Amino acid sequence: MTIKETLLASIENKIDAYMELVKIMYDNPEIGNEEFETMKLLVNYLDSVGFKTTSGYIVPTGFLGEYDTGKPGPTIAVMCEYDALPEVGHGCGHNLIAGIGVATGEAVKAIIDQFGGKLLVVGTPAEENFGGKVSMSEAGVFDDVDVALMVHPGSQNGVGGRSNALNPIKFEFFGKNAHACDPASGASALDAAVMSYLQINLLRQFAAPHTYIHGVIKDGGEAANVIPGYASMEYYFRAPTIGYAKELTEKAVQAVAGICQANGVTFKTSTYECPYEDTVINYKLADILAEKYAELGVEDVQPVDEVASGSTDVGAVSYRCPTIQGNIKICGPEVGGHTKEMAAATLSPEGQSGLIKAAQGLSLTILELLEHPEVLAEVKAEFDETMAKLG
Ligand SMILES: [Zn+2]
Repeated sequence: MTIKETLLASIENKIDAYMELVKIMYDNPEIGNEEFETMKLLVNYLDSVGFKTTSGYIVPTGFLGEYDTGKPGPTIAVMCEYDALPEVGHGCGHNLIAGIGVATGEAVKAIIDQFGGKLLVVGTPAEENFGGKVSMSEAGVFDDVDVALMVHPGSQNGVGGRSNALNPIKFEFFGKNAHACDPASGASALDAAVMSYLQINLLRQFAAPHTYIHGVIKDGGEAANVIPGYASMEYYFRAPTIGYAKELTEKAVQAVAGICQANGVTFKTSTYECPYEDTVINYKLADILAEKYAELGVEDVQPVDEVASGSTDVGAVSYRCPTIQGNIKICGPEVGGHTKEMAAATLSPEGQSGLIKAAQGLSLTILELLEHPEVLAEVKAEFDETMAKLG
């Protein structure tokens, strides 16, 4: 058998075992940071096929599967997500992502000794709520990684796309309580919050395309006959790059500072959730995956989606090393994301063939990089160039 045939066969021959994992996760969905049983399931599997494993890696439900050839070569990281959603279980199909990651890891492990280097299967939990990849990136997990890869299921085949950077900022306003019939003794935190809300809305007109600023007033006082001494607002500043999201945030903070001065109120800001970086595209990696998908007969493969919609913690990884998050079709366009129908699709025949094609596509991409160091060098040079431009 050629190396390529070994990779493809490894995935096809063990598909029942992978689908069994997918089914167990489907039947026992665990939401972000609570995926203890799922972590155990995946770690046990990786153990059984010869990976050195660490549970509770960096975050309580994170894990690492490692296979070191002991010979010089690149470090390749395959990422697994496995958190579910409340109510709809695996409505984002992360159980299938884990199956794809494990299948890719096992296949590449069978051939990597011939080249050298190190293979990591990284269990990155809590994509939906806490951003496991952000904590892991901050801890340096991806600093020495040459390439990080994964595939997300959905209603289209593709080689990935951008995601928005997200800067979550809380504004707190501190005024002075007073009897509402003695307003001269008080300072209204609520007035400052309301004016800030309006002024931040006005900022939107002057923001670059594809930016989203959305907020809510969380606290606005307790009783109509008391001048509110405390108010607060929570905002998301989303933009095509984290740099621009922070620039917009700074404009809003300046506006709020002026308003607070006008109202005799003080304020402070804090980051109330995990900030997400945008996803940096590596076009060379996207080209390789497109080529491999074509070889495998995967149809209608969409090019890089240049317009971001949501945000994902994959962004954090993409600022540390060349990263790709491809897509695999497991259902028609009538099935929305975050639905029970999407969860069901992970167990369907299309889900199963999606797992095979995605894992094969990733494995062949990795093989290309192992066989051709000059191609890997191109991928890394593109990453360095893009990072230099982003500053
Ligand atoms: Zn998802």
